[in-house]
Amino acid sequence: ELTLSDALNRVKPSATLAVTQKARELRAAGRDVMALAAGEPDFDTPEHVKDAAIDAIRRGETGYTAVDGIPELKKAIADKFARDNGLTYDPSTEVTVTTGGKYLIFATMLATLNPGDEVVIPAPYWVSYPDMVGIAGGTPVIAETTPEDGYVLTPEKLEAAITPKTRWVILNSPSNPTGVVYSADALAALGAVLERHPHVWVLTDDMYEHIVYDAAFSTIAQVTPALKERTLTMNGASKAYAMTGWRIGYGAGPAPLIKAIGKVLSQSTSNPCSISQWATVAALNGDDGFLEERNDAFRARRDAVQKALDETPGLSCLLPEGAFYLYPSCAGVIGKRAGGKVIESDLDFAAALLEAEAVAVVPGTAFGAGPAFRVSYATDMETLMEACRRIRRFCESLD
Ligand code: PLP
Repeated sequence: ELTLSDALNRVKPSATLAVTQKARELRAAGRDVMALAAGEPDFDTPEHVKDAAIDAIRRGETGYTAVDGIPELKKAIADKFARDNGLTYDPSTEVTVTTGGKYLIFATMLATLNPGDEVVIPAPYWVSYPDMVGIAGGTPVIAETTPEDGYVLTPEKLEAAITPKTRWVILNSPSNPTGVVYSADALAALGAVLERHPHVWVLTDDMYEHIVYDAAFSTIAQVTPALKERTLTMNGASKAYAMTGWRIGYGAGPAPLIKAIGKVLSQSTSNPCSISQWATVAALNGDDGFLEERNDAFRARRDAVQKALDETPGLSCLLPEGAFYLYPSCAGVIGKRAGGKVIESDLDFAAALLEAEAVAVVPGTAFGAGPAFRVSYATDMETLMEACRRIRRFCESLD
């Protein structure tokens, strides 16, 4: 019989899996399923980026590279941090490139955590953070945020979550799943708390930096420069350049941390795909004028879906400033009945909605805060509007 590792046994089964599996079954049975669960832009990688990849193949850039990235890409990343974020890093010692942003977070946890070490994670959180911490032997400490706080971590809640065992706090703005963008002031307030706790390091997941609407993007090492010497500023190509399949993440931080992460890379993935690295050089150095048009499309969808959901009986939905997600509360439908069955949680809500109207959303339980659910609007407007009509019909049918 197969014995699993303690590390894997700490990983909880995905709460989204049930909905995804059910959606698949319904689709196979011929139902017209509307999936609002996508975690990737519905746009294509820009042509100039594809061309750079093809050029790289033709030039024979097809062998192993330096484990933590080619110098050309590290330079493009350092230039990006200077240009967009006012942060200066030495490309040769303070920048790393990984096989997706996800693996950078994982490698960081593996490189730094010992049993009993704590990592503060604001909820709702991106599903992978707590499990990555668990696999690396650490303990996730969840700091809850509420719709009343606009799903922004308050300095009080951060302070309360920190103990002598805290090694990291993970920040993520714009947020997956809420879409909320932390203002410079909100980050400065957290920075002030962290300045008083010099043993705590900060991992800021800035993956959705370029998908913002009316707000300005800020990152904590820029807002509170005193924290730069213990901050890993993480980002990647996936969301900004519609490059989810190319698997390029990157980050910058203190040289000893970057070196330690490199050690994990050297004994696990080795270098990220050489061709994807050259493509990302073109993405970072190239014209990103295409972003404005894409963000205009995202914004129009956000506005329409937020309005439709907020006006739906039993739901309430904030209007966030970034990413491509909405996170409506479904507190108003808890206790009601769908086809005679009581809705006791957002898991019940998502399952009943899928069954009744074939709309797939991700229950908030997966993100550690609810009752709520995540809607992705990385889908065409027509699908979104039809899905909103179905969600409304479903909520109105509850008794
Ligand atoms: N961080 C957040 C908040 C995300 O939503 C994602 C992707 O869904 C990632 C990191 C990882 O991105 P990737 O591994 O594709 O670079």
